[in-house]
Amino acid sequence: MKLPIYLDYNSTTPVDPRVLETMLPYFSEKCGNAASKTHRFGWVAEEAVENAREKVANLLKAEPSEIIFTSGATEAINLSIKGVFEAYHTKGNHIITVSTEHKAVIDCCKKLEKQGAAVTYLPVNREGLIDLKELENVISDKTILISVMFANNEIGVIQPIREIAEIAHKHNLTFLSDATQAAGKIKVDVQEQHIDLMPLSAHKIYGPKGVGALFVRRKNPRVSLVAQMDGGGHEKNLRSGTLNVPGIAGLGKACEIAGKELESSSKRIQQLRDRLQSGFQKNIPGIKINGSTTHRLPNTLNVSFKNVESHVLMKKLINEIAMASGSACTSAVPEPSYVLKALGLDNESAYSSIRFSLGKLTTQDEIDYAVKKVITEVEEIRKAVVH
Ligand SMILES: *Cc1c(COP(=O)(O)O)cnc(C)c1O
Repeated sequence: MKLPIYLDYNSTTPVDPRVLETMLPYFSEKCGNAASKTHRFGWVAEEAVENAREKVANLLKAEPSEIIFTSGATEAINLSIKGVFEAYHTKGNHIITVSTEHKAVIDCCKKLEKQGAAVTYLPVNREGLIDLKELENVISDKTILISVMFANNEIGVIQPIREIAEIAHKHNLTFLSDATQAAGKIKVDVQEQHIDLMPLSAHKIYGPKGVGALFVRRKNPRVSLVAQMDGGGHEKNLRSGTLNVPGIAGLGKACEIAGKELESSSKRIQQLRDRLQSGFQKNIPGIKINGSTTHRLPNTLNVSFKNVESHVLMKKLINEIAMASGSACTSAVPEPSYVLKALGLDNESAYSSIRFSLGKLTTQDEIDYAVKKVITEVEEIRKAVVH
């Protein structure tokens, strides 16, 4: 077993060797620009892009013409929210989202508020789920967009997407769902779940960093967007700029593999996650699992260890386990996670929370080792506090 053990798959994943192999020729011998129509190099690159588009579409049960390639989920989210705001400004200025969304969504909304948008940030209950009645109650004749993420990156909580989509369409509203954490882990189907706009990212599903896609519904209803990147008119005028051909080829392959292996892989990962969770529950008193345990991604465990500051625990295990804490260290003083605060956790519980996220390469030996190490260190830290 190699140390440190990687248990931070929600932050990023290693590139699958089959994905890397698919990408490599497009860096060198197949170096064409997908927009070059006058020679074979361009055609070969374009073929790779269209092939990838089909694979991304297949994973989401979309049509290839509904897939727009971007530099990642953040860009796809920016294009969705700002693009809808501009395209539908004559209809209204009201956006509904949730307080636990990813920063990309929250910060887009914050920016638009400065440009005249009215944004409702719905609260969540202790489980991390929104209230559907509350959602319906805040809809007004000025509402243009509902943005609710499919699954949360910090706690893994899965929102009732189908029900939200029904409400959105009953009121003729566009429904955006950030599926960056859901795609490849659980079933995502834009037809069945009736989603209108759906961003995803390659590097969360064993593809390369810096590439992603946006699903844009073309019928029932057709979604309008105003481009946020102007230039040569690539990607149906929605996202100008020379396409990242190797990255896109890699994203396509990653989606193909994710679709094929989703069931078997998710089942195995969930068993390991449950082993990790029960290992803690049986051996460590004073722990609390954050977020719903029934509507949850199969790979995610977010847990608070009472009287143990997460940064202290992580520091002790820095050479053993890579994990994420429930606080953002962007400033000198770590801020407790706004997601955990939205669940109603007090500062102390938020500061003592850790996110473990498992993936394809996680083994039972690694989980057993992690359980053992965390038990020992939590005991040590608690002893030191008492004496
Ligand atoms: C990682 C992540 C993003 C951002 O994706 P990038 O491709 O890194 O920009 C957005 N939303 C969620 C839920 C994520 O987990």
